[in-house]
Amino acid sequence: MTYTIAEPCVDVLDKACIEECPVDCIYEGARMLYIHPDECVDCGACEPVCPVEAIFYEDDVPDEWAAYVTANVDFFDDLGSPGGAAKVGKIDHDAAFIKALPPMNQE
Ligand code: SF4
Ligand code: SF4
Repeated sequence: MTYTIAEPCVDVLDKACIEECPVDCIYEGARMLYIHPDECVDCGACEPVCPVEAIFYEDDVPDEWAAYVTANVDFFDDLGSPGGAAKVGKIDHDAAFIKALPPMNQE
């Protein structure tokens, strides 16, 4: 079990969560951020700082966003476990269904 990021992060990416993570396991994709399921230590520090409530404990992800749990795992298929997001930087990739979403900017 781990924490995961869901749809409200798409096109927001303000990175408030990154500042809180003690193990630097929140990685930046093209349209949202992803929590590494093996590197996350389940501390919960990121969840309350997200301004759009996009972060959930895996068991608590709303059903409508269940696909994001898989997306947070699959995002690391090619990346493996780098052991830190800062040195990796932004990765120009998202799950196919996320790429296909319309622009989510609220403005
Ligand atoms: S729960 Fe803790 S370790 Fe996991 S992503 Fe959030 S801040 Fe990082
Ligand atoms: S704090 Fe929330 S909206 Fe901001 S980057 Fe993290 S998950 Fe996305």
